[in-house]
Amino acid sequence: MADIDNANGRNNKPQSQIYALRQQIDDINMQLLKLLNQRAEIAAEIGRIKSGMATSQYDPEREGDMLEVLQQANQGPFSNETIGALFKEIFSATLAMNSEKARSALLVERSDEHQRTVITLPDGTKIGDGSFQIISGPCAVESFEQLDEVAAALAKNGMSIMRGMAYKPRTSPYHFQGLGEEGLKIGRRVANKHGLMMVSEILDMSQIPLMSQYVDLFWVGARNMQNSFLLRALGNVRQPVILKRSFGATIEELLYAAEYIVSSGNPNVILMERGIRTFENWTRNTLDISAVPLLKQETHLPVIVDISHSAGRRDIANTLAKVAKASGADGLMVEVHPNPAVAMSDAKQQLSIPEFEDMLAEIDMLPQV
Ligand code: PEP
Ligand code: MN
Repeated sequence: MADIDNANGRNNKPQSQIYALRQQIDDINMQLLKLLNQRAEIAAEIGRIKSGMATSQYDPEREGDMLEVLQQANQGPFSNETIGALFKEIFSATLAMNSEKARSALLVERSDEHQRTVITLPDGTKIGDGSFQIISGPCAVESFEQLDEVAAALAKNGMSIMRGMAYKPRTSPYHFQGLGEEGLKIGRRVANKHGLMMVSEILDMSQIPLMSQYVDLFWVGARNMQNSFLLRALGNVRQPVILKRSFGATIEELLYAAEYIVSSGNPNVILMERGIRTFENWTRNTLDISAVPLLKQETHLPVIVDISHSAGRRDIANTLAKVAKASGADGLMVEVHPNPAVAMSDAKQQLSIPEFEDMLAEIDMLPQV
């Protein structure tokens, strides 16, 4: 302060006064810079400790206490409002830095462009190795004969993974809910008969012991994507898990859901884009195809496209199948039924066996990206 008074006294040399004062400002800027970064390092250390404790990085109470102390100590010339606004900027920059750090530590995140998770099923089928896998079968297991007919077509066409859905998460409780354990039994018998791997949807963690006896892969549907208890429990199963994106979830939220499974001990997770809810009603959902390249960029996990539930209609299935392959996905999922018109669920979108074979012929002509 003494320097400033002296400087103010030298009215005959205003330029040199300004120069001297600016030098002081430059010095203070340097000190502030150093202090801000020192503060950030300490805050980052707190952030690291908090991330191990599963505590939120944001602590409004602590921010309120800090502001109160600062405003009580403030002697101006800045007003308390200004001090409050300046420090709030510092707090939010710190929070943003810590959240970014927490995010970049995700296990599902790709560390370099060559890192990829390749999942090998018990029969040697690989997902994520650069091949294009087709997962198929009816929306639900309805009978042995129905599944057997589809499975025979899948095997004949060289497919490896069959849907054997026994528990159906329907919108209405009065609609067909699946055959339950009987459906799992049929699925396993049919899969064994045709040398196929079976995937089935799990609705609740209490089903793990029963379903583990039947399935080669677990499947978490869109409605359960954020059921963190189920996701954590699937961290302890030996089978890979297909995780579908919820119709209301962002791509980032899908990655966090996958992180629940991977961080709980199961690295074999396959992501599935199945369309999100938008204002468009000519399709059941809107297939968010940009999710595929974005997910492939962000994560090392395989990504599959569900062309059935995204569109909700069979007339554009072939085009969506080609788009899925061209997007760089690791495969697609399509529902196939021996007689879609009488299907007990999703009748409008399931392909007949000849339609399915037609789709296969079309996508065969496209090279794998
Ligand atoms: C399904 O694929 O069987 C299904 C029920 O789809 P979603 O969970 O995406 O609605
Ligand atoms: Mn369905």
